[in-house]
Amino acid sequence: MRRRANPFAPSPIAPRQGRLTLEGREVAYLLKPSPRRRTVGITVRPGGEVVVNSPARMPPGPLESILRQKAPWILAKLAEFAQAPVRPPFLWQEGETLPFQGERYPIHYCHLAGRDGLMFGNNRFWIDRVRWERAGKGQPPEDCFPQRMTRWYRAQAQAQAESRAARFAPLVGVKPTVVKVRDQKQRWGSAAQTGVIHLNWRLVLAPPGIFDYVVVHELCHLREMNHSPKFWALVAKVLPDWQARRKWLRQADLTPPWEQPAP
Ligand SMILES: [Zn+2]
Repeated sequence: MRRRANPFAPSPIAPRQGRLTLEGREVAYLLKPSPRRRTVGITVRPGGEVVVNSPARMPPGPLESILRQKAPWILAKLAEFAQAPVRPPFLWQEGETLPFQGERYPIHYCHLAGRDGLMFGNNRFWIDRVRWERAGKGQPPEDCFPQRMTRWYRAQAQAQAESRAARFAPLVGVKPTVVKVRDQKQRWGSAAQTGVIHLNWRLVLAPPGIFDYVVVHELCHLREMNHSPKFWALVAKVLPDWQARRKWLRQADLTPPWEQPAP
């Protein structure tokens, strides 16, 4: 599953760049025709990229007139994102919060006996700052802490991905061969016919029910390698409220505070 769009929809027609003058302003857009689509959908991404999803064989005339109709909305979105501030650097100060499983928890610095210099408990991240700084060889925390923190998130995500797959696979009636978290920038998850499922480690930042949904979604792809009604019926059998979860995910920003939000 892509972070924003649908990876299994067939797209034999390559996306292409288009340009149009809207209310005196030249707007570039990425046109993505798909045989699956019946209507035109317009998305403006943070950063100002305009993406137009259209039916496969849509003539330029009608497409242009739809874009013109939507011009006020497109221009307002572009203006909004142009003003959006870039996320400031995360400074790793005591009491600052980090996301985990749909909540935010403060950082508390202490001396720890554990191997990783990090523990999660009592609704706090307990970090052995001295040890992390020593391991970072004098780099400031904003340069060396994200790597250590990410390693912890990934380990959590991996363990959770495996236990979820074990719980849901029998309900879907499949046996995945490998379930692995990865650093995927554009996708929440993917499934291959070989039974391999990859999941984005950032899902561990989302509420557990959202992580569940992506796991179930990918497991269902082991039976249905598409997004047909049959596929969604399979998802619905396990998670009747999948639509609400999917909607949440589409609007979510699941980037840790040291990363800029995904475009
Ligand atoms: Zn999918």
